[in-house]
Amino acid sequence: MPRYALTLVLLAAALAATPAATARAQERLELFDAHLHYNQEPTPLYPLEMVLDIFRRNGVTGILATSRPNKGTHQLVEAKAPGLWVVPFIRPYRTRADIQTWFNDDGIYDLILDEYRRGYYRGIGEFHIYGHSAATPLVKKIVNFAVERNLFLHAHCDEEALLLLLSHNPKARIIWAHTGFSTPPARLKELFRTYPELRGELSYRSGITDSTGQVTAEWRDLFAQYSDRFLIGSDTWINERWFSYDGLMKGYRAWLAQLPPEQARRIASGNAVALFGPRKTE
Ligand SMILES: [Zn+2]
Repeated sequence: MPRYALTLVLLAAALAATPAATARAQERLELFDAHLHYNQEPTPLYPLEMVLDIFRRNGVTGILATSRPNKGTHQLVEAKAPGLWVVPFIRPYRTRADIQTWFNDDGIYDLILDEYRRGYYRGIGEFHIYGHSAATPLVKKIVNFAVERNLFLHAHCDEEALLLLLSHNPKARIIWAHTGFSTPPARLKELFRTYPELRGELSYRSGITDSTGQVTAEWRDLFAQYSDRFLIGSDTWINERWFSYDGLMKGYRAWLAQLPPEQARRIASGNAVALFGPRKTE
């Protein structure tokens, strides 16, 4: 083949491929990971560059960033990684042991005040709280602190604690980590109806799909009514979750693809933009 002909063939191939490739890229949903821990006790599993690469290859363009201690979150914010929107939350833990005791520990309030002075935080959490532990004066003080500063709360809790948090201050804006794990969808509907500011984050949430990977009828129904209330997340609380990060995001994409596109877009990232936006990336 003459050289110019080869060039023409290559050019034609490139022109043919480009629109298709662009269309495919546009179809790929942007994901916002609303349950990301970059824990470091004392060093992280993966260096920062590797973590940023994991987000890139999964189409994760935004993260609700937390870490224990908060140093990992500082690093994610300060990285100013191109194309990554970081929404930092204050983690009320210094060490893993704090998970059991933070709600009775005044030192944790000081930690929250200290971190808040950095000026960029949008919420407090993820924190763990069960049953009557949520009734302590310190928890009430933290809920009020959050409401007064327009901060969200990312709560890993049972229903009793959730209702106590909301009773401390009805204006509390709570993202319910794991959406109760297994709370029946009918009950979730009641809670969403009663508490218009309540949001559900879906990591570890059971019942969304059946054994064949199809979204179940009751979850289709829940998403049809409340697709504006859900967020997805990885919950990288242990190393294994980093190892399975690609699979977790593929899993979300698999069931999001079964929903009407506008519902899928909201759950994938649109709701995060509505909550925390406008979106800021470098
Ligand atoms: Zn978590």
